[in-house]
Amino acid sequence: MAQHEHVRVAVIGSGFGGLGAAVRLRREGITDFLVLERAGSVGGTWRDNSYPGCACDVPSHLYSFSFAPNPDWPRTFSGQEHIRAYLEHVADTFGLRPHLRFDHEVTVMRWDNDRLYWVIESANGTTVTADVVVSATGPLSDPKLPDIPGLADFPGKVFHSAQWDHDHDLTGQRVAVIGTGASAIQIVPEIQPHVAALTLFQRTPPWVMPRMDRAISGAEKWLHRTLPFTGTARRGLLWGIRELQVGAFTKHPDQLGIVERIARANMARAVKDPELRARLTPSYRIGCKRILLSNAYYPALARPNVDVISSGLAEVRGSTLVASDGTETEADVIVLGTGFHVTDMPIADRVIGAEGITLAESWKDGMQALRGATAAGFPNWMTVIGPNTGLGNSSMILMIESQLNYMADYLRQLDVLGGRAALGARTSAVGAWNRRVQERMKRTVWNTGGCTSWYLDADGRNTTVWPGTTAEFRRATRTVDLGEYEVVRPPAPSADQKPVTEEAVR
Ligand SMILES: Cc1cc2nc3c(=O)[nH]c(=O)nc-3n(C[C@H](O)[C@H](O)[C@H](O)COP(=O)(O)OP(=O)(O)OC[C@H]3O[C@@H](n4cnc5c(N)ncnc54)[C@H](O)[C@@H]3O)c2cc1C
Repeated sequence: MAQHEHVRVAVIGSGFGGLGAAVRLRREGITDFLVLERAGSVGGTWRDNSYPGCACDVPSHLYSFSFAPNPDWPRTFSGQEHIRAYLEHVADTFGLRPHLRFDHEVTVMRWDNDRLYWVIESANGTTVTADVVVSATGPLSDPKLPDIPGLADFPGKVFHSAQWDHDHDLTGQRVAVIGTGASAIQIVPEIQPHVAALTLFQRTPPWVMPRMDRAISGAEKWLHRTLPFTGTARRGLLWGIRELQVGAFTKHPDQLGIVERIARANMARAVKDPELRARLTPSYRIGCKRILLSNAYYPALARPNVDVISSGLAEVRGSTLVASDGTETEADVIVLGTGFHVTDMPIADRVIGAEGITLAESWKDGMQALRGATAAGFPNWMTVIGPNTGLGNSSMILMIESQLNYMADYLRQLDVLGGRAALGARTSAVGAWNRRVQERMKRTVWNTGGCTSWYLDADGRNTTVWPGTTAEFRRATRTVDLGEYEVVRPPAPSADQKPVTEEAVR
């Protein structure tokens, strides 16, 4: 093999997951690691999604690292640019820059059974080998583009919400927004006042709750800066409230009726036309799809330059967009708010494990990982925000930090084993964990609420959401149970083969 760099740990991705892993590695005293990132800067989700109105749906004091509190959050729910700046700040504060390798799109990671390391190739032609891979490529980082006949021949502009074209001025244009997910409902009120006409293609209406957003006062910031425990207490309160809500999502979806009433009132305040209200009213239990927050979405839909088409986009004929119900609309621009590859993560096609098959092949019947992190047949490979670690109502940063506890203990266990060794998740342990998860999933609103959503894979299996509290997940990932793993050692050298020495493998 040509010259390459070897590190103990290769982290892939530099969003919250990758940067969090990097900080944690340094805290564990591990400096022999690299962070490979396909883009030219850190930030992940919050670098890529720069569409008008992009903001977080979880309060900032909870949607940030516990080890890097920010007393200066400007608003209770921060916008994209502030979260992105926060992540840049984390990279500087924790000395992560020397570890970052930008423009390194990982094209393949291959496990070497003899040398017990991962060979990681990037699109720029470089190769890195690593004892352990921490894959933090994000659950929502690869835009999903719909396969609509004629879309490729649309004469106007087409872009995905995560690839916003800031050079294209929408003023006075006829814009079609496809989809009514979290991104679309943030985009619509921002662009509506500027465009000539806005047509929203809605397959399923979302439940939209009021957004309790406000500027954080100077006094609050001063308090959190001067007495840091007040920031911690605020975070604790935000966390506790959300933990108390979990039971309604996971065990008692019938209790969510009261939340539906608040969402209906949110709509009724802004939408006076009963026919439009009927079109915007969901027919499934709130929480089944992600609950969205906005005070501006419904008022925007009630404006005269907006039309809501209650069916998906079926075909594009020149500049005419044809909905599934036959409605035709003229447009100059199409904004695709069509989400991401979630249950079919592209990175899974790029990971080749001990048996020579890809992770995608191994997951052909649905994604599954032990404690959301490790997969059978893929030694010393773990993922951050892996299968069944998503949340419906709280901060993903809590889950990421739990997974980083697991990563830290995994590396400690490898140290204890000594010599060249890897840990491979046992098929039985992965199976047992996932049976437990799927059993608990049966009663949840995501599976029983009467909707289809991006939480479910093509076979209707929920492989994305964690059916419990974040505290339960924290407990489940505190330490690695060695009984769930087999220890992999290098193969014994055959008589006619030179032994694989430490020197040879580095
Ligand atoms: C618009 C939007 C709003 C959201 N709002 C919320 C919210 O309100 N609350 C919440 O909890 N969560 C929210 N999320 C989910 C959010 O994705 C997570 O909270 C979190 O930011 C994920 O961090 P991550 O590091 O795992 O992934 P990402 O932030 O997606 O980072 C992954 C990184 O990996 C890189 N990468 C991917 N593939 C490769 C490759 N092959 N080689 C090298 N690098 C690669 C990407 O370029 C990216 O930088 C939102 C997501 C989106 C898209």
